[in-house]
Amino acid sequence: MSNVATLPLLLKELRLSTMSNIWEEMLNIAQDKNWSYESYLATLCEREISARYSKRIKRYIKESKLPTGKSLATFDFKHAKSVNKAHIQALAENSSWIDKAENLIIFGPSGVGKTHIAAAIGHSFIEQGIRCLFTPTTNLVQNLQLANKEYRLPEALTKLDKYSLIILDDIGYVKKNEAETGVLFELIAHRYEAGSLIITANQPFSEWDKVFPDNMMAVAAIDRLVHHATIINIQDESYRRKVAAGK
Ligand code: ADP
Ligand code: MG
Repeated sequence: MSNVATLPLLLKELRLSTMSNIWEEMLNIAQDKNWSYESYLATLCEREISARYSKRIKRYIKESKLPTGKSLATFDFKHAKSVNKAHIQALAENSSWIDKAENLIIFGPSGVGKTHIAAAIGHSFIEQGIRCLFTPTTNLVQNLQLANKEYRLPEALTKLDKYSLIILDDIGYVKKNEAETGVLFELIAHRYEAGSLIITANQPFSEWDKVFPDNMMAVAAIDRLVHHATIINIQDESYRRKVAAGK
């Protein structure tokens, strides 16, 4: 039989940090309540797993750069008449479209809640253990442009593969000189049937030629995006303006 005195070291060696922290306290409880050996062991394992899970989710939330406080719970669907609550809830709860690497494109004028809804869906998936990245499109495009200049665009794109979902906020804000390099197209082509995108846009597809080097590439990008995609059009009045007007 092993020497119990080595137990803390063994747990440390196995990187069972939660077990290491709680085994003594749980032992007292187990003895007090006459738990079987198996119950004691199972309880320790359960606690280790659940602590790891919450740590992982915390890490996912941090790396996602999602804006805080933008959840479906804080979204007032009464204000957003053109938004189908059940549809958004289904998209946020059921990750089958993420498994199938499908996309979601949210159109609408400024202030109607596009970013809020996209972020809320991202949060919901992280809670389900799905990794997600939220980024203003221009930021990501600038990073990819830099990578392109340094001949490491393929690596930079591959690095993003760890995210099952990437939220590209405000695709229309990509500036002319950023569009010229076509890295946004490279990203879309790379994610095609491989990983989901949520894209928010103030401009309809017809104006997307400005975010790509030319018309042809815009068409090719849109083609790939919409092949497996849900498209939502929000047609409400700006929430910001509505709140400011006290409506
Ligand atoms: P968009 O991305 O369409 O420009 P945002 O999602 O940034 O709009 O929304 C603007 C602000 O109004 C944000 O602070 C957002 O949280 C809030 N907002 C928009 N629509 C709603 C809503 N229906 N309920 C609650 N807050 C909302
Ligand atoms: Mg926005």
